[in-house]
Amino acid sequence: MGPVGGGRLGAPSKTIMDVLPGKVNSSAEIALRFVMSNPGVTAALSGMGSMDMVEENVGVASNEAPLTAEEIEQINSSMEENKRMADLYCTGCNYCMPCPQEVNIPLNFQLMNYHRIYGLTEYAKNEYAQIGKVNWMKGKNAEACIDCGICEEKCPQKLEIRKQLKETAEVLG
Ligand code: SF4
Ligand code: SF4
Repeated sequence: MGPVGGGRLGAPSKTIMDVLPGKVNSSAEIALRFVMSNPGVTAALSGMGSMDMVEENVGVASNEAPLTAEEIEQINSSMEENKRMADLYCTGCNYCMPCPQEVNIPLNFQLMNYHRIYGLTEYAKNEYAQIGKVNWMKGKNAEACIDCGICEEKCPQKLEIRKQLKETAEVLG
């Protein structure tokens, strides 16, 4: 499960915090409280990599006041809108693949969307640096594009893939 911003909970994002302005101290808090407000959830598992994260999660879990129905609706509608915006850039359909240069186009754009839509810039930069270096992120990053244009003929969204890959390399590379 990936609540609120695709589940990138450890990564800070002002964009996500601004969904409930002034009511949460971190994007991790909003995601954890969102999960725990669901009456169908009896336990939430959260990966923690430092004592600070443990303490933060304990603090959030100790807060017995659930999110209000209005706040949950605010989060849901905001995330729906973000998803709609992300799909305007790339739906991840994969029709443009394979790229002869092995550029993983949908993955590059997914990471760019984490930056552009969700404000998860540091997370996106770190992941971008891992493309092709770890098993679960195959292919190459945007810098391997040689501008051949083959992918653009296959994209149903008619995206300017080459232009957007250049932007991705500039911002995340
Ligand atoms: S334009 Fe770039 S990303 Fe698209 S197919 Fe050619 S090399 Fe691959
Ligand atoms: S074909 Fe277009 S919309 Fe689909 S994954 Fe490739 S770039 Fe994204």
